[in-house]
Amino acid sequence: MSAEASPDGPGEETLLALAAEAGIHRLSIPTPFQVGRVNAYLIEDSPLTLIDSGPNSGKALDELEQALAARGHAIEDIELLIVTHQHIDHFGLASILARRSGAEVAALDALAPYLRDFRDAAELDDRFAQQMMLMHGIPADVVTALRAVSASFRGWGSAVEVTRSLHDGEQLQLRDRTLRVLHRPGHSPSDTVFLDDRSELGQPSILLAADHLIKHISSNPLLARPLGAAPDFSGPRPRSLVDYIASLKLTRAMTLSLVLPGHGEPISDHVALIDRRLHLHHRRAEKIHGLIAAAPRTAHEIALELWGNVAVTQAYLTLSEVLGHVDLLLADGRVVEQEADGVVRFAAV
Ligand SMILES: [Zn+2]
Repeated sequence: MSAEASPDGPGEETLLALAAEAGIHRLSIPTPFQVGRVNAYLIEDSPLTLIDSGPNSGKALDELEQALAARGHAIEDIELLIVTHQHIDHFGLASILARRSGAEVAALDALAPYLRDFRDAAELDDRFAQQMMLMHGIPADVVTALRAVSASFRGWGSAVEVTRSLHDGEQLQLRDRTLRVLHRPGHSPSDTVFLDDRSELGQPSILLAADHLIKHISSNPLLARPLGAAPDFSGPRPRSLVDYIASLKLTRAMTLSLVLPGHGEPISDHVALIDRRLHLHHRRAEKIHGLIAAAPRTAHEIALELWGNVAVTQAYLTLSEVLGHVDLLLADGRVVEQEADGVVRFAAV
């Protein structure tokens, strides 16, 4: 390998070349979202496999087609399409690709009904989000505005039939490799990562991680309706950050040469990156504890203290962020939840 080493370890080109030697190629697909491009990965094996597809847009389809052509393939050649999780920037094109190629569509078993009934599932997600936002102090007019924004995004997704259900821990056998399927919920309830472990051959061990771990941004553990929850779900609030931290610790314990994420650059030192993320969450929980200790507050009031107007324009994202950290404090018994007139406030113990 010849590319330069930076203080952060080997550079992006070196790491992409390492993946390419293992037959895994990053295809960078445009999205209309703030996150920017999404990474699909082409695995040149048998079956010819694509991990994630990009959003449902002509521009994404066009660029995907060009990226495949640059490697000598057409959409019709894809034989297996794997969906990593329930976010539309990752699976929106899957139905078009499956129709044109006849590819098998593989996803976590618990995710299959969500993908099949995507429109209904997205509607239930929005209803759940609305309920959470009102309960945690976000004004009704902001909630209404955000629901409209969310509905307008839905067209970038598309329902797709999963023809091959995957189970946590299962091995997915390709001609030249075995992918171990691992459920790592947190960023979303359906996050699935795929381990291509070639260490016994003296080759790199590669984790296809989607949004479970991203180098340049901390993967927001969004508050999400549990998979398979009843339409009128009213159970205990899902604890996305608690789940996410548990998932991160499992990944931290793995021996990996390379992590290929759903956005941005490959990661060569996942342990150091995960340690930075764990530290960040710990610090943020302490800061939020300080605010709650000063006065009982709703999650939205905490978000306003921390982020000002961003807590309005990105109300659900910032609410998820606050609730995630409050869940850590609740688990440690340092904070209690008090409900009055349908609105929840948090108070220090
Ligand atoms: Zn995602």
